[in-house]
Amino acid sequence: MNFKVMPKAALPEWIERLRADYRVIGPQRKQGEFVFADVHSATEVHFDYPTTILPPKKVLLPQREELFAFAGNGRALEPSLDDRPTVLLGLHTCDMHAVALLDRVFGRGVADQHYLTRRHITTLVGIECLEPCSDGAFCRDMGTLTLPDEFDLHMIDLGDEYGLNIGSEKGAALLRGFDRMRETNADDVRRVGRVMSQKWPRFPYRLGADVTELAGLLAVSQRSVLWDELGERCLGCGACTLVCPTCYCFDMIDEVDFSLSVGSRHRVWDSCQLDRFAVVAGGHDFRAGRAARLRHRFSRKYKHLADTHELVGCVGCGRCAAACLVHITPVDTLNRLNKQRAPQAKRQSEVVAP
Ligand code: SF4
Ligand code: SF4
Repeated sequence: MNFKVMPKAALPEWIERLRADYRVIGPQRKQGEFVFADVHSATEVHFDYPTTILPPKKVLLPQREELFAFAGNGRALEPSLDDRPTVLLGLHTCDMHAVALLDRVFGRGVADQHYLTRRHITTLVGIECLEPCSDGAFCRDMGTLTLPDEFDLHMIDLGDEYGLNIGSEKGAALLRGFDRMRETNADDVRRVGRVMSQKWPRFPYRLGADVTELAGLLAVSQRSVLWDELGERCLGCGACTLVCPTCYCFDMIDEVDFSLSVGSRHRVWDSCQLDRFAVVAGGHDFRAGRAARLRHRFSRKYKHLADTHELVGCVGCGRCAAACLVHITPVDTLNRLNKQRAPQAKRQSEVVAP
């Protein structure tokens, strides 16, 4: 472990130094909530925020981005790649796990050049969560309350100082030449150990099933009547997917000028919870009802992404629970599915019991 210690009083100076070389984005207060936004002054950044409305996904996969411009009836194409060196400050570990999932999805198969260009030029700076950020968060259940395997730089609040865990060359580059840090000593190691061990009892488990059981739970719950009940309640608004750090569905829009020979193609966020998301040529809608769309969303998060990318498509951040006006939450839904499954599991065990 490559660890250094920085006094909290040095943080503004460090952020201002970063701003000289990078586009810096960090958590900031906005109308009583917190958002990731461009930092114009170090005083705007709040490392002790609970959660943000939108996740850092909005930086790596913007809500709307131009993919390329074309001219001459499409004979001249110019890709629009965003390669501004960027530092994303203050990510909670759940959001870092979400970025790891996006990296895998956009990096595999036909790699997405727009996402990867932005991602390669972006350095992530995490902040250790010492308190649960909301009642809807269940990061401990999902295994995202600790750092992912790969990270750049991670900060731990030690009171009047920050412990800095350096995980990559990109992370080390952010500290190079900054002399208001010191090497760690035995007392720092003890302090970090104490802070880390004290935080765990504050984070309750909220799911009745283990994360490794969720794919199986969704597989046996496809015909559950719960989907119909939730479908009756759901507004089909798509808010749950828009605030989700792991949802990445998008649509394409072409904008063409009056000459019909010059224009651009844009990518915009889409949502599987919206009506007509699954309409195909000929007009057939594969998921016409809200119940079917909800079931799809849960199946995709807890089963399909685990099957295809070996990572669960939910990091337990709780944003969807906060955004849903009719209180449809992952914790409640998964726990109710798990309770419904319980009698069936009991019957099976009775059959095989000697
Ligand atoms: S499904 Fe909900 S809790 Fe899970 S990552 Fe998405 S927004 Fe967070
Ligand atoms: S936020 Fe709630 S009401 Fe809106 S689509 Fe999602 S589950 Fe349905």
